[in-house]
Amino acid sequence: MSPRARVLVLNSALGPLDYRVPHGMTVEPGSIVVAPLGPRQLLGVVWEPERMPSDAEVGDNRLRPLLGVADVPPLGDALRRLIEWTADYYLAPPAAVVRMALSSNAALEGARTATEYRATGHVPDRLTPQRAQALERIGDRQGLIRELATIADVSDAVIRGLVKVGAIEGVEVDIDSPFPLPDPLHHVPALSGDQRAAADRLVADVAAQAFAPVLLDGVTGSGKTEVYFEAVAEAVREGRQVLVLLPEIALTEPFLKRFHDRFGCEPVAWHSGLRSTQRRRAWRAIASGQALVTVGARSALFLPYRNLGLIVVDEAHETSFKQEDGVHYHARDVAVMRGKFEPCPVILASATPAIETRQQVAQGRYAEVKLPGRFGAAEMPAIAAIDLIHEPPERGRWISPRLVQAMTETLEKREQSLLFLNRRGYAPLTLCRTCGHRFQCPNCTAWMVEHRLVRRLACHHCGHVMPTPRACPECQGEDTLVACGPGVERIADEVAALFPEAKTAVVTSDTIWSPAKAAEFVGRMEAGDIDIVVGTQLVTKGYHFPNLTLVGVIDADLGLEGGDLRAAERTFQQICQVSGRAGRGEKPGQVFIQTHSPKAGVMQALVTGDAESFYAAETEARRDAGAPPFGRYAAIVVSSEEQAAAQEIASLIGRRAPEVEGMHVYGPAPAPLAMLRGRHRYRLLVHARRALDVQAVIREWLGALEWSPKVRVAVDVDPYSFL
Ligand code: ADP
Ligand code: ZN
Repeated sequence: MSPRARVLVLNSALGPLDYRVPHGMTVEPGSIVVAPLGPRQLLGVVWEPERMPSDAEVGDNRLRPLLGVADVPPLGDALRRLIEWTADYYLAPPAAVVRMALSSNAALEGARTATEYRATGHVPDRLTPQRAQALERIGDRQGLIRELATIADVSDAVIRGLVKVGAIEGVEVDIDSPFPLPDPLHHVPALSGDQRAAADRLVADVAAQAFAPVLLDGVTGSGKTEVYFEAVAEAVREGRQVLVLLPEIALTEPFLKRFHDRFGCEPVAWHSGLRSTQRRRAWRAIASGQALVTVGARSALFLPYRNLGLIVVDEAHETSFKQEDGVHYHARDVAVMRGKFEPCPVILASATPAIETRQQVAQGRYAEVKLPGRFGAAEMPAIAAIDLIHEPPERGRWISPRLVQAMTETLEKREQSLLFLNRRGYAPLTLCRTCGHRFQCPNCTAWMVEHRLVRRLACHHCGHVMPTPRACPECQGEDTLVACGPGVERIADEVAALFPEAKTAVVTSDTIWSPAKAAEFVGRMEAGDIDIVVGTQLVTKGYHFPNLTLVGVIDADLGLEGGDLRAAERTFQQICQVSGRAGRGEKPGQVFIQTHSPKAGVMQALVTGDAESFYAAETEARRDAGAPPFGRYAAIVVSSEEQAAAQEIASLIGRRAPEVEGMHVYGPAPAPLAMLRGRHRYRLLVHARRALDVQAVIREWLGALEWSPKVRVAVDVDPYSFL
């Protein structure tokens, strides 16, 4: 009788399936296999049968045989436990979580070389506009035909045509060449006393090779990166792997550079911008244990590290660690679980730790290491509030006179300024002066945002764009449209009008959309080629520009709108973070926050620097409300293209809500974003005391109900977005 294997195939609608292991094939738990499913072949992972019960027991003689095993090491025990935990905790199909681990198809294929393509410099005689566009956008980049076509925004055929005429050529690349090894002694910094103490503690944790979650809490510019690099160095010395998670890929580029300065080579970067061959090389080197240090956004968390010795979550308070589609997981929390399963230490680095994390420290579950002051001569910047009611900007302007004055002085000193407004585009709302028509997205409950540079209106939720019309579509009035409120582009216009000589840059995801663009921006800042930066939250983190001495927050009240439970905390974190860009070198920094409510607790805390009382008050308010971390929430979002269908299932779910002691269900109600990407949305919010196994309750509750495929029901455990 042939042995059987239980396989989690990559199909979220299916549970684990049993297969026959054909003669001559060996598999073990974690083996990545190819399995037949109907007429198709699917990837899957072999699992321990007892951990993954299957409800379809099939007799041995009816089992279909596995078709192949990938030539890569099996997914390790710790990763399999992590997949189970993530699926369980976030109520996601295990296959959807496994898919995040098998994030490179190419890695599972055999070949070691691939043909990539690049421009030869030869310009073809027949240069169609498409060909010209392709050659221009490709520049000196290299990749598969499909990848080049995507970069150039042309069809594959255009690229193939260019190959035929000799403008693009194929090159054989070895896709499995090993990564350079970081050298722990390449450039060892002289640490200050506080830094040394913190680093020693973290190094000891790494050496102990045990689970140890620790909060590295230090003000901006205190040298947190320098300090956790010592822990990285220790892991590297022991030949163990390290994962550094960053909240956004825009931060990768400056990180690579710093890492290179310290360790003499770049770490492996893992992000969505990798080419297929790069992805394969990284995945395989991580799986074999050859790649020692990986830096990436949250998706790097599920890679098959072979012997992980340390995880660092940098800017750990960032809410972008929360994934909002597919599997709704929080990478900070999953990182801690991975550390537990490996086991290895997990460092959460932050200048403004989340209340959730502070509470873990208060309860003794996480250790805390503090860096109280900025490194070297740098001082914390002075923060002042500008009361927009008493010191308003001129009519039709957004920068108040005091901030204008400070910018003038900063320019005179040849220092740099940063204006922060967390709103892309020119204006968040466009309306017709004559008839009042407002431009709304046809797919979402959201206004179309004007992007004047590209002359478009865009929806920031679904990406719908339209050219900015000259006439109102409602009353046909010409030139009657007015922009309401500011976005960064509008602030940049105001800056240009105020300081025509100054060199300005707008930094948002529209202008810095690739690591290369980020590097270019950093280069220009460092070269003094920019006087004034106007940016969204993209500029608030990670960057270190010693000559940047003035920060102006255009609208500090913006984040307080909508009033979700973390609004004040998030505002505090964001403004601390952007303030932290000022005066990081020897020159002192100053920060102005423009607000309509300078008396609000969060503004007071920013101005006085008394974070502790602010956090204490916020924490107490959460405790009183039974909000996280003292209680728990889970959101159930029901959506459908048909409003009636969504409403019907939402009310069915509401009617069938179980009566459970310590749990309360709010809703259903139309979600604040009542329509998103063409789907109508209803929301139920489950509030429970902390000790309640709310996942088990929801699993049973929803498991007993059925709905048509037109309706989607998404559960968000520990939600961060309340839209
Ligand atoms: P944080 O991550 O806490 O904001 P960084 O690690 O970015 O702080 O440090 C701020 C700046 O100070 C960086 O330019 C860093 O290189 C420098 N720095 C910090 N500690 C040291 C040190 N011990 N020796 C030399 N430079 C340091
Ligand atoms: Zn939209």
